[in-house]
Amino acid sequence: MKNGFATHVWLSVIVGLCAVIMVFVPFSGAVSNQMSNQLPAEQYQYHSYQDLADELHSLQQNYSSLMSLSSIGKTYEGRDIWLVKLSDNVETDEDEPGVLFMAAHHGNEWPGVEICLFFIRYMLENSQNTSLPQVQEILNTTQIYLIPMVNPDGVTADTRKNCAPNHGPFGKKPTITSYGVNLNRNYDDPWYLAYLFPLRYYLPMILPDASFNYRGPYPFSENESRAVRDFALTHNFSISLSYHSYGEFIIYPWMHTTKQTPDEMLFRSVGENISAINGYYLLIKNDRLIPLYGGTLGSSENWLYRAKGALAYTVEVGSERRPTSLQVVYNLCLTHTTIHLYLCQRAQTIESEKAVLR
Ligand SMILES: [Zn+2]
Repeated sequence: MKNGFATHVWLSVIVGLCAVIMVFVPFSGAVSNQMSNQLPAEQYQYHSYQDLADELHSLQQNYSSLMSLSSIGKTYEGRDIWLVKLSDNVETDEDEPGVLFMAAHHGNEWPGVEICLFFIRYMLENSQNTSLPQVQEILNTTQIYLIPMVNPDGVTADTRKNCAPNHGPFGKKPTITSYGVNLNRNYDDPWYLAYLFPLRYYLPMILPDASFNYRGPYPFSENESRAVRDFALTHNFSISLSYHSYGEFIIYPWMHTTKQTPDEMLFRSVGENISAINGYYLLIKNDRLIPLYGGTLGSSENWLYRAKGALAYTVEVGSERRPTSLQVVYNLCLTHTTIHLYLCQRAQTIESEKAVLR
């Protein structure tokens, strides 16, 4: 599973993005209008865990002053959960706004991994590009964190959950009863709400450990969610975005209820700008569509907002779980690179905006 973008594709990406970024407003439709070159009708080759690890190591060696690479934990099967940091003075924790991008909590949802890797390459390869001064400025003023593959065991096995063994729904049985926890239900959110309001929070779906939405025996029972938690508690960031696929919509806390957070205005403002770039539907709170999707406890978004105050979004990219068209994946990468650049800029003012809007 190797990356299939040819050099001429890269050139057209850069030329296209130049125009998009230099204008930067209006966001709506700007990216697609730049897509003059049609790619060959090839199948996109997704990165395996090993492909990703190899490429990240190679990029880090080539751009060691701007990129650091570290493992924030090991999976049950012994794979590393890689964390990338992009910034100037990358080895130092500076007093700069932080942004976090994550992908593949669900191991069978691959496009987000490609979006994160594309963005890393884009930032590094354009860090000296004088026609794109915004890239260098963002690197100089922002600490960008990426966890491009939260669930590498799940990606490797091509399964939604991770691959650790379960011992009954409460972890008490001596024998292995099934495998895998839905990592995006394993955050502490708080855990007991599912017992207090079982129908509302889908207890019958959550509890059986063989269920595709099984949340685990207790909060942060899984290596992967603990790794994200431990990273989050020791690093500063004000905005996070976690990729899933699919559905073409954007959602933000609270994920389990239609109630608004104290930062609803800000969530909506940033969310509307994300939506203006990718054209996806923003599920605002008190939206009548929320109950169809909502009721989700234990998501990373709820926990990141509750524990860190981070503006934490899920973006469900694409109209299929794993598009095979080179053109489709390329468009997703291009569009969401623009979103990343926007969020890095917005992060510069987000804390002061929060103080004003609350
Ligand atoms: Zn998902």
